[in-house]
Amino acid sequence: MKRQKPPSNTGHRQAGPVPYITRWSAEQTPGIRVVAKNGGIGYADERPYDRDTNDILWTRVPSLPGKGRPEFGKVHALRQRRAMEALLCQVCARPADRTGDGALWMLGESPDQPGGSGAEFDGLITAQPPLCAPCAVKSAQVCPHLRRRCTVLRAHSFDLVGVRGALYRPALPAPIPWNAAGVGFGDPRIRWIRAGQSLMRLSGTVVVDLAAPQASPGTRSAPPA
Ligand SMILES: [Zn+2]
Repeated sequence: MKRQKPPSNTGHRQAGPVPYITRWSAEQTPGIRVVAKNGGIGYADERPYDRDTNDILWTRVPSLPGKGRPEFGKVHALRQRRAMEALLCQVCARPADRTGDGALWMLGESPDQPGGSGAEFDGLITAQPPLCAPCAVKSAQVCPHLRRRCTVLRAHSFDLVGVRGALYRPALPAPIPWNAAGVGFGDPRIRWIRAGQSLMRLSGTVVVDLAAPQASPGTRSAPPA
């Protein structure tokens, strides 16, 4: 008997839905001129929606989910930001799973480090939005990277602390991107970043068993100092 293949248009990853935050090949950032503006960077043709309520400049990218091929490993800036801000599941965009122990998160090999630029962050920082319980279980099953090693945890408190993106430096005739970096909201370099992802700090975390995604007893981390 012939075994039926699951439908796929990805070429390298099967089984499971395309995560909400995954970027699609049709969602290309148009070439936009970055200019020096108000002690930082801006777009030459900047529009109000290019910045968030913290006045941070965001990568301008069309929203065309389902168009072209999913580009696994690449994140759509605005869907990632929305999932973080509204605590939506990064896979299905429904509300993330929450219990008395907090919201459910799954971190890969190592927690995201803001990295590379001397940014000062305390606690566990991640660019991964939370998950609902069914998607957490499914993600662990279908994603080879996560299957190798992942940590599932609940976090009692979580705060948006900064963004990750392309950090520019002053130059003539226009600022130039020189580093991918995570920068905290209080860091003056925030005016020089073109944000691509929100960064969340998790604290009061408890490691959970995916088979029973309630908190396991006795694994609560020390509260942040
Ligand atoms: Zn989900």
